[in-house]
Amino acid sequence: MSVIELEDVVKRYQSGTETIEALKSVDFRADRGEMVTVIGPSGSGKSTMLNMIGLLDTPTEGHVRLDAREVTDFSEDELTEERRTGIGFVFQDFHLLPMLTAVENVELPSMWDTSVDRHDRAVDLLERVGLGDRLDHTPGQLSGGQQQRVAVARSLINEPDILLADEPTGNLDQDTGKTILEELTRLKEDENVAIVAVTHDDQMLDYTDTTVRIVDGVIREVSRP
Ligand code: ADP
Ligand code: ADP
Repeated sequence: MSVIELEDVVKRYQSGTETIEALKSVDFRADRGEMVTVIGPSGSGKSTMLNMIGLLDTPTEGHVRLDAREVTDFSEDELTEERRTGIGFVFQDFHLLPMLTAVENVELPSMWDTSVDRHDRAVDLLERVGLGDRLDHTPGQLSGGQQQRVAVARSLINEPDILLADEPTGNLDQDTGKTILEELTRLKEDENVAIVAVTHDDQMLDYTDTTVRIVDGVIREVSRP
């Protein structure tokens, strides 16, 4: 079963007197253990789609379902909870806090959680992305690739069902990007998480299970190599 599903999703923005149809009847789904990569030209609707999947925005028409549940039926509290624990985020520019160590950055999204194993899980995740010897380094003491590994570990701390990645290799050189993609592929399987990534990095297409091409708010092509 798809963990996230968009069905006949239309999104219109009102800009002054002009109406912009950013998404025109989009169908999309992702399963646990699947990496779906969204590609398409600038302005084609990729961010708008990611915002729907991340529960940061709602469609003008159509359905968004999380584990077959209509998102419109969620209460505000449930939505907040889902955004916090159901979805992990990885960004092009890492979004790490410079004053905190690697392990503190990874723990941060789970600070509200009083369970005692938070620190252990953060250490475990950092070890799994090969940073067991960098736990107390701050982002400034780490390379770009290492910083992105910290961000990947952070995105998984609350054991999300979905990992949203916005140009995760965008600020990395080819080889470093490759190691991040290998890491994501491994974690996708270990954690049984659905990864939805937006990218311009062709290298990513070698790692993806499904590629979705969007043009002018319409999904033009879905390929499963
Ligand atoms: P992409 O991520 O593929 O570059 P976007 O989803 O950001 O595309 O944008 C799709 C279309 O929607 C573009 O025409 C963009 O200008 C428009 N758009 C996006 N967000 C807004 C907004 N908040 N208000 C008005 N128009 C928007
Ligand atoms: P951009 O790349 O458009 O300049 P960001 O890198 O800040 O902006 O975010 C890109 C996209 O990441 C947003 O359009 C949104 O779809 C997604 N996003 C995801 N999660 C979050 C979150 N918790 N807070 C903010 N944005 C998120």
